[in-house]
Amino acid sequence: MKELVIISGKGGTGKTSIAAAFASLAQNSVIADCDVDAADLHLVLSPTIRKRSDFSGGKKAFIHTDKCIGCGVCLSHCRFGAVVQDDNADETASGLKDCENCEHCKRSCSVRDRTLIREMQQSMGLAGSTIFRIDSFACQGCKVCVEFCPVNAIDFRLVVNGEWFISDTRFGPMVHAKLGIAEENSGKLVTLIRKEAKKIAEEQNKDLIIIDGSPGIGCPVIASITGADLVLVVTEPTLSGKHDLERVAKLTSNFKIKTLVCINKADINPEMSGIIEQQAAELGLKVIGKIPYDEAFTKAQLMKAALIEYTDCEIAEKIKTIWQKILYEFA
Ligand code: SF4
Ligand code: SF4
Repeated sequence: MKELVIISGKGGTGKTSIAAAFASLAQNSVIADCDVDAADLHLVLSPTIRKRSDFSGGKKAFIHTDKCIGCGVCLSHCRFGAVVQDDNADETASGLKDCENCEHCKRSCSVRDRTLIREMQQSMGLAGSTIFRIDSFACQGCKVCVEFCPVNAIDFRLVVNGEWFISDTRFGPMVHAKLGIAEENSGKLVTLIRKEAKKIAEEQNKDLIIIDGSPGIGCPVIASITGADLVLVVTEPTLSGKHDLERVAKLTSNFKIKTLVCINKADINPEMSGIIEQQAAELGLKVIGKIPYDEAFTKAQLMKAALIEYTDCEIAEKIKTIWQKILYEFA
């Protein structure tokens, strides 16, 4: 079983349309949408979800307001601005009790005296509410606040960052996901999707996994390509396309993965297409196709159709030829 990953240096090059077209051409494949930060292959393939699971990428801090004494130590130690002093919260709901002058604090725990807490806060340059909470979007899960909280009021909990799905499509099984807004750990989610796609491929004797990878060269891309058999970089004839191709080529070369290039919208700037072809040759990459600009790309997406289903015009033929060249590489 082989893994083909379609990536691009940046978004908007037509990567997903090409991945969907390949899915429609493949005879016996599993489709994996690893572009989890902006998944959109499902818009074309209209999957029917068979299994839905939560994705938990890691742990984040959580303050127990009933235990918190409002000392502000967590706020002063968090480097990510994830501890928020909540001026609108009801202070009576916190673990911090009003002083009743029992003087118990002098003999034991001084931190339960609101006056002393205020003094402590002021000495740290804090003022305002004694209610603190964690902004889970900003929390990086470094656990520093947990270590420094004097009364163990901070928990470190697994959080649900998104969902992943096993689905059926008209072209075969598909594994895909939906990451929550501003959630991280997309690399971990990509690894999970690839693992599940591989499991399905083995169970159903599929000979190929078609992976729609993320744009860029970050963690989710690395997770998409590591150990894959072949990478197809979809680029376009622009200066940024040229620059991005160089970055992506360095990445795939570091991971020693065979890499091919396809130039989409090649005719919008023939001169730059030529420069990119030359650059690819210098980088040791084979350009296996140049696709002209065609509105059919967008129209097919709007019709929720793979390009090959939507049209049999020149670009469909170009993509079929690219597909044959990819199969040849696997032979
Ligand atoms: S775990 Fe780290 S990032 Fe999150 S609130 Fe605590 S100190 Fe800040
Ligand atoms: S360090 Fe602990 S007790 Fe102090 S404000 Fe933060 S959560 Fe509350």
